[in-house]
Amino acid sequence: MICPVALCRFHCGDLSCVSDVTPARFADVTVVGAGLTGSLVALALAERGAAVQLIEAPGVLTATAFSYAGVPWWSGPAGALGELQAGALRTWQALSLRHGDLGVESCSLALLPDVGEGPLAASHLTTLLPHGPEGTWIEAEALRALEPRLRPRQQSGALLLPYARVALERWSLGLRRALRRLRVHRLQGRVCQLMPVSAGPGTTPVQLRCTDGTLLSCRHVVLCQGASIPELLPSTWLPQLRHSWAGALDLPLADRWRGPLVMALRTLRRQLETSSLAQRTAAWSGPRETPRPADAVILDPGLAPCSAGVRLGQTSSLGLEPTPLQPPDPAQERRRLARVGELLLAEWGPKQLAMARLRQGPVSFTLDGRPLVGSMPRRPGVWVFSGFSGPFAQAVVLAPLLARALDSGRELDAALALQPWRPLMGEQG
Ligand SMILES: Cc1cc2nc3c(=O)[nH]c(=O)nc-3n(C[C@H](O)[C@H](O)[C@H](O)COP(=O)(O)OP(=O)(O)OC[C@H]3O[C@@H](n4cnc5c(N)ncnc54)[C@H](O)[C@@H]3O)c2cc1C
Repeated sequence: MICPVALCRFHCGDLSCVSDVTPARFADVTVVGAGLTGSLVALALAERGAAVQLIEAPGVLTATAFSYAGVPWWSGPAGALGELQAGALRTWQALSLRHGDLGVESCSLALLPDVGEGPLAASHLTTLLPHGPEGTWIEAEALRALEPRLRPRQQSGALLLPYARVALERWSLGLRRALRRLRVHRLQGRVCQLMPVSAGPGTTPVQLRCTDGTLLSCRHVVLCQGASIPELLPSTWLPQLRHSWAGALDLPLADRWRGPLVMALRTLRRQLETSSLAQRTAAWSGPRETPRPADAVILDPGLAPCSAGVRLGQTSSLGLEPTPLQPPDPAQERRRLARVGELLLAEWGPKQLAMARLRQGPVSFTLDGRPLVGSMPRRPGVWVFSGFSGPFAQAVVLAPLLARALDSGRELDAALALQPWRPLMGEQG
């Protein structure tokens, strides 16, 4: 049920009737989705003085809750977006200075090459990352010395990079504190419809309907509900947006994981995500998994510390259609992810698999690999913030730009090429 105080504030537009609300300097904004992206947008808008309500659907699976939460500031595309993303760590640090602990901490990242690949492949990779930190090649023995429970099979060594991550429990606590201080109203409810409203003097441009029948009125809405956005906007309006289903296993550990985050030096995920639908089937000829007829499954051997112990692997099931996929069969996902335990951990067997908890959730992405950030031309007051690649580095630098655009009524710099409605390659004009 929507909080009646917030309803009153946004429904009747009479701010004076709510004593604990900071008066809005500009628009009243509803942010839909309180995962990483929605939370960062709510924070950025509230910092600019907006009266913000942040709504999240209870019980909906979210990707943020089981992310590795690494900050890949060096992995942006060439050009203006990559330059911005390179400043992600500084932006996190500045946010933490303003709001207190948000869980940001330095760590290291071990990138594992494929079998048979060695330091040469690793050093080639670093030349492809213009904003990348200097990596150091370490032999398998040195890797095991960092964390004895890490024992990658068939590996000659790894490329070790300085890295940063966000500890999710601390992020969640710090965020709650910051949002409370900035008077952001957090609501629970599932938005199911963007109501058509005629724009004109005295009208509220945006009305949202929730599944319990509640109507929310506001001057702007920012859609940050990742993979669920097509429930509110026709998917033809966001031609680039797709989603995959991700899975990971949380393995409880008696002692804290002291080793690095681990990821594969190469992953097929981006290659498959950004290829056209036809190419995606063709590209899926690799040995890792057998594709089901309607989608492709990628298994990334990686791990990251989490509050329970260690989070293992990531499966990504990519649909070949823009329509939402069903979550993959949990038993099959566990079997796939068990291979990551076998590959990376010194101790792995049926006992560990039985203890591990499967996490599943949808992750949005775009076909051209660039996020969707900006307003919708045919819907006054409707903004989109989704489809990130590495959102812990991208969303944190783009949220303040979106807030500024909304505040000033001017779109983001077109050179960033982030317009949510941009067509697919070959469909321009
Ligand atoms: C295993 C794994 C590892 C990852 N590692 C990294 C990493 O190291 N670095 C990195 O940058 N990224 C990583 N990612 C990706 C990243 O975690 C996600 O892309 C990101 O967390 C998505 O955030 P989000 O806010 O878009 O969506 P979500 O976290 O999915 O949040 C969506 C929100 O929308 C709400 N919602 C949905 N529908 C409605 C509705 N109708 N009405 C109201 N609310 C609604 C939900 O309740 C939820 O609050 C990883 C992902 C996975 C799965």
